[in-house]
Amino acid sequence: MAKIRWLGHAAFEIKMDGKTILIDPWVTGNPLAPVKREELCADLIIVTHEHGDHGFEDAVEIAKRCNATFVSIYEIASKAGELGVKNTVGMNVGGPSEIAGFKVALTTAVHSGTSNPVGVVIIGKELTVYHAGDTGLFGDMKLIGEIYRPDVALLPIGSHFTMGPVEAAYATMLINPRVVIPMHYKTFPVLVQSAYHFTEEVKRRAPNVKVVVLEPGESYEL
Ligand SMILES: [Zn+2]
Repeated sequence: MAKIRWLGHAAFEIKMDGKTILIDPWVTGNPLAPVKREELCADLIIVTHEHGDHGFEDAVEIAKRCNATFVSIYEIASKAGELGVKNTVGMNVGGPSEIAGFKVALTTAVHSGTSNPVGVVIIGKELTVYHAGDTGLFGDMKLIGEIYRPDVALLPIGSHFTMGPVEAAYATMLINPRVVIPMHYKTFPVLVQSAYHFTEEVKRRAPNVKVVVLEPGESYEL
């Protein structure tokens, strides 16, 4: 059984195939974080982009302490290597690569940054998970859905910096996962504060997709 734990904002801990994966593990300074970074460890850590709310610094510390493999866009992985992370994999948007027993592919994300922000698809034996990173809506999400057929999509719904509830519901329709879990909301006053509108929109646009709304620290098993 695989387990997905929301650590608040865009941070997730995924346990599958007997391993632990962290994505955007921003916990230091994250007002929603249910844990301290000392409590986290992983085999694989993925950072979607360099903005402070996506946990590059926490990821570097955890990767060093746990000897985890650090995956990101090439420039960010190189920076982690310079900071002493031993196992780094610098990739780019494209096809999957075999990493730590999973297939990992970076995807487009429509966002800003000095190195390209990305989303990520992680293909394990138990699950395929798509974490969209910080992004606006784009039509090629349909292709991500068709090619990888994710069981779970982790989508930002907070608006202002990313998709809002309506765009994220439309994205859910395009990706057509089994389960969608909203993220990147209610962390700051400027963001959407509840998943209610998103949930209602998904019922309308993609009624076959199950919406799982987690509280920070809460897990979903499937
Ligand atoms: Zn962000």
